[in-house]
Amino acid sequence: MPDAASHLPFFFGSISRSEAEEHLKLAGMGDGLFLLRQCLRSLGGYVLSMVFNLQFYHYPIERQMNGTYAIAGGKAHCGPEELCEFYSKDADGLCCTLRKPCTRPSGVEPESGIFDNMRDNMVREYIRQTWKLEGDALEQAIISQAPQVEKLIATTAHESMAWYHSNISREEAERRLYSGAQPDGKFLLRQRKENSTYALSLVYGKTVYHYRIDQDKSGKYSIPEGTKFDTLWQLVEYLKLKADGLIYNLKECCPNPSTPTGTVAPVLPAHPSMSVHRQFSSLNADGYTPEPIGTGKSRVLPMDTSVYESPYSDPEELKDKKLFLKRDHLMIDEVELGSGNFGCVKKGVYKMRKKQIDVAIKVLKSNNEKAVKDEMMKEAEIMHQLDNPYIVRMIGVCEAESLMLIMEMASGGPLNKYLSSKKDEIPMSNIVELMHQVAIGMKYLEEKNFVHRDLAARNVLLVNQHYAKISDFGLSKALGADDSYYKARTAGKWPLKWYAPECILYHKFSSKSDVWSYGVTMWEAFSYGQKPYKKMKGPEVMSFIEQGKRMESPADCPPEIYSLMQQCWTFKWEDRPGFVTVETLIRSYYYSIAAKTEKGSNLEDKTSAAFP
Ligand code: ADP
Ligand code: MG
Repeated sequence: MPDAASHLPFFFGSISRSEAEEHLKLAGMGDGLFLLRQCLRSLGGYVLSMVFNLQFYHYPIERQMNGTYAIAGGKAHCGPEELCEFYSKDADGLCCTLRKPCTRPSGVEPESGIFDNMRDNMVREYIRQTWKLEGDALEQAIISQAPQVEKLIATTAHESMAWYHSNISREEAERRLYSGAQPDGKFLLRQRKENSTYALSLVYGKTVYHYRIDQDKSGKYSIPEGTKFDTLWQLVEYLKLKADGLIYNLKECCPNPSTPTGTVAPVLPAHPSMSVHRQFSSLNADGYTPEPIGTGKSRVLPMDTSVYESPYSDPEELKDKKLFLKRDHLMIDEVELGSGNFGCVKKGVYKMRKKQIDVAIKVLKSNNEKAVKDEMMKEAEIMHQLDNPYIVRMIGVCEAESLMLIMEMASGGPLNKYLSSKKDEIPMSNIVELMHQVAIGMKYLEEKNFVHRDLAARNVLLVNQHYAKISDFGLSKALGADDSYYKARTAGKWPLKWYAPECILYHKFSSKSDVWSYGVTMWEAFSYGQKPYKKMKGPEVMSFIEQGKRMESPADCPPEIYSLMQQCWTFKWEDRPGFVTVETLIRSYYYSIAAKTEKGSNLEDKTSAAFP
């Protein structure tokens, strides 16, 4: 996840105070000369280093509980860039206004902090170990949940550090520190038996000193009277630079014999779900409010649900996998989830070898028209070939009282309905998250050479508020190995408002035309489920598009998102981006707002509303 300031030319990343001063000296020491650097104490915080009257001033910028940024006593801003812009116009208590950015020499990237370097590998290992994922399922989880997982890891990163000795006694700590050479500054960190607090043990003048590490009400760590830190690894990194009350600053680490050297894997507790809860509660203390999902439990990630992986990912269950399911393994509820021309969709339960799963059952109307049956079998054959966390999976078909298509359950229902009914509760960032998941699913379809042909908010179903799946493959086609599009012989009952010009003009359908539909789906989502093109009829929409007109941006829609919609509505399919590009673009926007708001577990921002 990029730092929210990484694009700023005057951001130097993780450099020390004295390094910052060196840079300012080299840049001439003019009044109002400034640079921005990562704060070594608070997660997501910065320091503004500047010059006035040949003196240096360093102002810590704290990331607040609500995800905004502020210098102590100053106004809050939605990001570091906005904050600097403000202080360039108004000194508002600083030594002077920001006048001249001290920029990084060309070719020099912001210095990455210790955590930045480990982050990607840790996210991967954390997801692999916590949810026991491999292969594509692992890759998809990384792409879709990196911001949330990073937040979890930040608070446990110390467990994988060589200097962390977990649960050892004071005597054992001394034994370890006294063994071998005893240079000043040799240290280790350990967990104390009593009330699971921590202690720092440090060698100075051949003597070991022990410091208690306190944790305040908001969860911040400090040695008594010392600077406060969000995480233990930040405290250690800081005390390496500065003694800050210790008898000596930390130097050489006394490595834990049981931490393999060079490891990046976090040492995970035996019960991953427990650890998630523990970590969420510390995040909570720090102001990342976990989502109240009824039970007061932490937010459920897609990987925590039963529909992230196929029920057949279990080799035992795979043994029984067949296209046609036995009727006596299927219990059909009277509850109707939805309906369409084909018939209705009912709720049910399907009994497998080891478990019973909730399913949605598309039941064909009892008329036995062969053409209708064939259509449903085609839909089934398409779905049979797909397996992705962001696509509704088919479990199988069942031919009994009527032909039935058995699917994974997505109990949140269609996206458009969900959003229109919960307009006030769902922040924009949540919609970005869901539409990013749709992009992941569509990228998969594109890669497998399938065209959906009916991508619309009504066909995006929700598993929960933070988990979307693409559904309804009734119009979908598998493309031939050498084909880039499907050509329909005759026009049918088509969702014209979602169709690209080449679909309507030449009956040509490709992943590029799905991209056009994705743009319309985005518009629906960011309009909280409104109908596209107002009261226009399908054919009117076509001439509207041919005149070069496009729908306007939904109210409060972030400009980056509207710009992506417009790219999806590129008239010529050759010039339109594919899903690889679309997914990359929405991902980087999604990560950037996650970095800005530090929503982690879900401190959901109304950033765009609060800061127009
Ligand atoms: P149609 O081809 O008629 O549009 P859909 O496949 O879109 O049929 O299903 C119609 C409705 O049935 C959906 O809008 C939704 O409410 C419900 N539904 C379909 N599939 C599922 C599912 N897997 N889980 C939950 N509800 C579903
Ligand atoms: Mg549908």
